[in-house]
Amino acid sequence: MSDSTGHLGTEERYALSSDCTDGELRSVVKIYARKVVEAHDLAVAVSSLEWEISHRAKRRAGALFHSDGQPQRIQIARRHFENSGWLAVTSTIRHELIHAHLLNTERDVGHGKRFQQFAEALDTSVHCERFSEPSYWVRCEECDREIARYRESKLVKQADQFRCGDCGGRFSVVPVDENGSR
Ligand SMILES: [Zn+2]
Ligand SMILES: [Zn+2]
Repeated sequence: MSDSTGHLGTEERYALSSDCTDGELRSVVKIYARKVVEAHDLAVAVSSLEWEISHRAKRRAGALFHSDGQPQRIQIARRHFENSGWLAVTSTIRHELIHAHLLNTERDVGHGKRFQQFAEALDTSVHCERFSEPSYWVRCEECDREIARYRESKLVKQADQFRCGDCGGRFSVVPVDENGSR
């Protein structure tokens, strides 16, 4: 471990813009995950796991999917990155890696005493992290792609001046009310 926070300094070396592609985000997530695994000697094979940047995850910042007692896939919510930034994502990665490690070594998927010990060592939360719903959805009228925005950003205020990067369509803005429905 290169510093007492367990962050390994990686977040300073990778300046991810909030508009980076899922592929770019996933690469950095995997690089960071390898460093955590090495630094803490976790029994996790980063390369044999599937790493997914999810646009569908609604409330969970991250999740570990497993079958037959084997970790299969770690999912990171794109909205968590957009909402809270890379530092928050590193905490989620550490959290999910602890799950993978404990599943591999002790068949344990809970947040019990062992998890708590690791969470302390790796400076992450004991509870699966949640993230809040965005304040606005910017939706492409052509392909229905949806972009979450948590503030009244330029894209929200001047949506008519932007075009969808996937299909060139026009955007419309859908505000989200207090209880999260739209
Ligand atoms: Zn958890
Ligand atoms: Zn589109």
